[in-house]
Amino acid sequence: MYWVHHYQHRISHLSYLKSGENFPACTKCGERVRFELAPEPTAADHISLDLDFSIDGRRSNPSKAG
Ligand SMILES: [Zn+2]
Repeated sequence: MYWVHHYQHRISHLSYLKSGENFPACTKCGERVRFELAPEPTAADHISLDLDFSIDGRRSNPSKAG
């Protein structure tokens, strides 16, 4: 579980990454995003589910299915 510190465009938030998983670059602030190990385990969504980190091959697409 990591705190994700963005550069100006967004306040810090928690996200989950698997151990050994590379830290993705933010789609908005890129490499300026910082990851800090959260001191306590907390419930949070996986980083790939975050809108700013579309590392799952999912890009924002105007055509929505379903
Ligand atoms: Zn960002």
